[in-house]
Amino acid sequence: MSVQQFQQIRIVLVGTSHPGNIGGAARAMKNMGLSRLYLVAPKEYPSEKALWRAAGALDVLDNAVVVDSVDEAIEGCGLVVGTSARERRIPWPLLDPRECGERAWSESAEHEVAILFGREDRGLTNEELHKCNYHVHIPANPEYTSLNLATAVQVLCYELRMAYLQAERSEGGKLIDFNEWDLPPAKAEALERYYDHLQETLMELGFLSPDNPRQTMTRLRRLYNRVRLDEMELSILRGMLTATQNYIFHTNKKLANSDTDPKPE
Ligand code: SAH
Repeated sequence: MSVQQFQQIRIVLVGTSHPGNIGGAARAMKNMGLSRLYLVAPKEYPSEKALWRAAGALDVLDNAVVVDSVDEAIEGCGLVVGTSARERRIPWPLLDPRECGERAWSESAEHEVAILFGREDRGLTNEELHKCNYHVHIPANPEYTSLNLATAVQVLCYELRMAYLQAERSEGGKLIDFNEWDLPPAKAEALERYYDHLQETLMELGFLSPDNPRQTMTRLRRLYNRVRLDEMELSILRGMLTATQNYIFHTNKKLANSDTDPKPE
């Protein structure tokens, strides 16, 4: 998984009237790490107004692909999602923006994905919506559901970015869900006792310097805290420390005895 996957996702603006919205969409995309913009029969493009609204995202506009039909814009795509300012404009599998972000992100690892946005005045036609696998509606104020086009692009691109960040975060190790775990997590006070025990043992071993144990203990705390130990795991670790201390104790005792043993003649 990498941010390169964003290359697999197209934002398709269909029949846009106001070039300012094209620029605004380009900027929204670049802010969130997306770059592939398709324009289906824009009313006025290229345009100064688009450049002005794009600000630092001129590269997205430069690379925008202008086509005549939605079919050309979605060619090669394995997932097509259509946005609608009205919920259930026609009965169709519906996603919310979060689900759309997650699905589009995960499927972009396998194939190209397109998200379609409609005309400012009348959205996408039914025929265009029928080309989509899913529809997505931003759950806005029911009394005023229609967002500005570039703003709608921003919301969906943000959800794509969140899905990417979430996937990246959990890649290092899936977050543990204690509802599905066989034992409860070790509690804070038990962990504190463990850290004291660990520090004591590491000092006895001569591994920690009594003058400056802090840095190493901080790193060890971070390590153990990160893995979310359960109660049994913690008790095993405590047992290992006790066994280590016993070993040190007996070894030291033997050494002391051998010092006092009468020397062989
Ligand atoms: N009067 C039009 C509004 C179109 S708004 C209609 O009723 O369809 C222009 C585009 O912005 C829409 O086609 C869609 O792509 C996007 N959009 C605006 N509000 C949205 C919302 N609440 N959810 C999803 N997309 C929205």
